[in-house]
Amino acid sequence: MSTTITLIPGDGIGPEVTAAAREVVDAAGAKVHWERVDAGMSSLERTGDAVPEAVYESVLRNRVALKGPMGNTFGGDFRVTRKARRANGRIEERSYPGPTIALRGELELFANVRPAKSFQGIASRYSDVDLVIFRETSEDLYLGLERMTDENTAEAVKRITRSGSERMARFVADYMQRTGRRQVTIGHKSNVLKLTDGLFLGACTETLANYPGIAVDSRVVDALCMELVMRPERFDCLLLPNLYGDILSDLTAGLVGGLGVAPGANIGADCAMFEAVHGCAPDIAGQDRANPCSLILSAAMMLRYIGESAAAQRIEAALGSVLREGKHVTCDLGGSAGTTEMTVAIMAHLDEAG
Ligand code: NAD
Repeated sequence: MSTTITLIPGDGIGPEVTAAAREVVDAAGAKVHWERVDAGMSSLERTGDAVPEAVYESVLRNRVALKGPMGNTFGGDFRVTRKARRANGRIEERSYPGPTIALRGELELFANVRPAKSFQGIASRYSDVDLVIFRETSEDLYLGLERMTDENTAEAVKRITRSGSERMARFVADYMQRTGRRQVTIGHKSNVLKLTDGLFLGACTETLANYPGIAVDSRVVDALCMELVMRPERFDCLLLPNLYGDILSDLTAGLVGGLGVAPGANIGADCAMFEAVHGCAPDIAGQDRANPCSLILSAAMMLRYIGESAAAQRIEAALGSVLREGKHVTCDLGGSAGTTEMTVAIMAHLDEAG
C-alpha cells in the first residue's frame, strides 16, 4: 500500500528543492504517491488566496505533507488578513503572519522539530553537534495579535497557556523516549517575562518531572545563545517557545553548516507537515543554486514518520556520502555543483547505501 503525500512546492527555491526531494524519495523506493497543491505568495498573486482551501483539505485528507518554503511580506501589509481571522474559528484582530504560520495554525501543528547535526565533509567550526530543537508553534507572539493603538504605537500579544506548554512538553518527552535522547534544556526569559515565560518554564518543568529517564535543566535564552555558540556539543534537546525557537534554530543551523543542511517537521495530533528550516531564498531562486539537502533530510524525517524507515536510512546515508566526498556540493558548502547535480549525486549513492 502506498501513502499519499501532499506536496506543496512553495515559492522562490521551493519548487527546485521539492522537486529534488521528490526525486530522491522516489529513487529510494519509498511507496508514496504525490498529490501536488499550490500555496504561497505565487498562489496569492494568481488566485488571491495564499493558502487556498484545497491545500488544507489535501493535508487533512492525507495527514502528511512535504512543503517547500513560502515567501511572506515584510512589515505592515494587511492584504490577506481574512483567512487568518478565521484561523481556529476565532475572530480576533490579527495581522497576517504568513502562509506557513497560517498552515501550522489551521492544521494545529503545534510542535516544530528541528535537528542540527554535524556532517563529515562540511567545513564548520564544530564537528560534534547533535541536538534537536523543539519549538512550540501554536502560541507566543506568532499568533499575529498585533494592533496599532495610535499611528505611532504598535503592540502585540504574547500568549502562553498551561495546556499548550504541557502538551508540548509531553510531545518532547515522547519523542525523546522514542529516539533515546536523555537531556532537555528549556529556554526562556522568565527573569523579565515573569508571567508568560514563567508559565512556560513552570508547566514544562512540572510535566517533564513525570519522566524519570529524562534530565531537565533550563537557561535564560540570551545566555543559552552564548553557550550554544561556545559549547554546542553539550546540548541534546532544547525546548523553546515559538519566537526563541524560530531564532535559535537558524543559529543551530549555522553551527553545522548553514540553512542548506537544516531539516524540520511540524507535528500535530492528526497530521504532520515536513519542511526545511530555510526560507524561499529569493536571491538564488530559479538559478539551480539552492542546496537541496535540507528538504531531502526533511523528506527522510517524513519517511520515518510514515514507517518507511529503510528508505529514510538509505537517503541519509547517500546524502552523507555526497557531503563527505565533497565533489558534488552546492556553493553554500564551498562547492560548485548546482541543485540538479547534487541531487543526481545523492541518487547515484542510494544503491551503495543498500
Ligand atoms: P532565507 O532562509 O530564505 O535565506 C537566508 C539566506 O540563506 C539567503 O542568503 C539564502 O540564499 C540562503 N539560503 C536559504 N536556503 C538556502 C538553500 N537551500 N541553499 C543555499 N542557500 C540558502 O531567509 P530570508 O531571506 O530571511 O527569507 C526569505 C523569504 O522566506 C521571506 O519571505 C521569509 O518570510 C520566508 N521564509 C519562509 C519560511 C518557511 O516557509 N518556512 C521560513 C523562513 C523564511
